[in-house]
Amino acid sequence: MDALNLPAPGDKARIVVVGGGFAGINFVDHLDTRNYQVVLLDRHNYHTFAPLLYQVATAGLEAPDICGPLRKSFRGKPDFHFRMLEVRGIAPEQQLIRTGAGPIHYDHLVIATGTRANFFGSQDIEAHALPLKTVPDARRLRNHIFQTLERLDMTNDPVERERLMTFVIVGGGPSGVELAGALSELRRHVLSRDYPDTSIEQLRFILVEGADQLLSGFSDKSSSDARRNLEDMDIELRFGALLAGYDGQTATLKDGTTIPTATVIWGAGVTGDIVEGLRQDSLERARYIVDDQLRVRGYENVHALGDVALLTNAQWPKGHPGVAQVAIQMGRRLAKNFNALAQGHAVKPFSYLDKGSLAIIGRNRAVADLPKNLHLNGFPAWFIWAFVHIFYLIGWRNRAFTFLSWVANYVTYNRAVRLVLEPSLEEELPEAEKLTTHP
Ligand SMILES: Cc1cc2nc3c(=O)[nH]c(=O)nc-3n(C[C@H](O)[C@H](O)[C@H](O)COP(=O)(O)OP(=O)(O)OC[C@H]3O[C@@H](n4cnc5c(N)ncnc54)[C@H](O)[C@@H]3O)c2cc1C
Repeated sequence: MDALNLPAPGDKARIVVVGGGFAGINFVDHLDTRNYQVVLLDRHNYHTFAPLLYQVATAGLEAPDICGPLRKSFRGKPDFHFRMLEVRGIAPEQQLIRTGAGPIHYDHLVIATGTRANFFGSQDIEAHALPLKTVPDARRLRNHIFQTLERLDMTNDPVERERLMTFVIVGGGPSGVELAGALSELRRHVLSRDYPDTSIEQLRFILVEGADQLLSGFSDKSSSDARRNLEDMDIELRFGALLAGYDGQTATLKDGTTIPTATVIWGAGVTGDIVEGLRQDSLERARYIVDDQLRVRGYENVHALGDVALLTNAQWPKGHPGVAQVAIQMGRRLAKNFNALAQGHAVKPFSYLDKGSLAIIGRNRAVADLPKNLHLNGFPAWFIWAFVHIFYLIGWRNRAFTFLSWVANYVTYNRAVRLVLEPSLEEELPEAEKLTTHP
């Protein structure tokens, strides 16, 4: 036995994978463990299907519907071992991973740690804005939205009402657009019925984007279709606008505009989730620089995959897009290369097959950029979006539950999960209000 109760790999090489996201799980899935021992490490014991986090945040789905337990995913895979822990560092000279529970030796290391929210050094935005990167983020945002509405329903002060009624979404990428659309539908179909004592139609959703269009990376047609859809849905769009500060009371834009608001949702930036220990010249823009065999610069036995990897070539001079398909395809390619090596075959370089981009805006509203310059808008794009997301969810249970929830939401215009589960209402109430609610 090794540290952390891991069995010795015997005459096999041990591959340690850090991160059970799209890249990590596809690598493990396609690796032939007759030839290698594989140890998967993640700070969570589940995989998160991030493209649907916004639905957890807006009461459309439950968190377990978009998560897959990592141990269950690889149950029965020989010589597969999972440990739930935070990786704290790498010592490449000794081929060791440092964790809170002790060191782990590797023969090959695969780093697939993805990204984390980047607040560009603004401590007040980091302290008060709500990111949407993880399942706890999504649940926290959902609780916050519904707690804010509960507070709104018991406040007469017009200034405070305006603050509570204003929601600012920062970032006009796919997650900002999808979240804005979902909030607008929540306002229209659910909240207007749930809060009869409040003029719910006065809720304001302001989407702030630094560029002059939405969905950068999509075609111009999809960007303008998304813009038209959001405008139809009464989302206020502010282009060329950057959030400069937020103290929990007022959002301040770079041009000096102030917006009193109790809610700023941060979807504007991410940075690579780097594990310390590799040479500085293996990093660029907080990503590991990799070659076309996905090896980190300067290391023969360290690989990086997915969002945390920077692979540039003639087609992608600034690196590949930070999307699930890149991570999935990188994970599969690297596993197949390891399998080939074990059988004495040649390895193949990574080549990304772009299957297109999709973003949902609301009921029957979505945009799709498909291969061969095909652009779809409206119901056809929405249908493809729904099909693709069901298909890529982990496990039959999640597919079935998500499908049924969507059918129910579609038919009833309802959102089932609008519960404030944690933290309690009291935690956010000021002292004076606590006294009046509990005489
Ligand atoms: C809200 C949101 C919406 C998105 N929507 C879309 C979409 O519609 N379509 C699309 O293609 N892409 C979308 N993306 C992007 C997509 O999710 C990523 O490109 C994809 O998840 C990258 O996969 P990955 O394996 O590189 O990283 P991830 O999936 O982020 O996985 C990284 C894993 O590493 C673990 N980890 C990180 N650091 C450590 C550590 N030190 N120790 C232990 N474990 C660690 C994390 O817990 C996590 O499980 C979205 C992302 C977000 C956040």
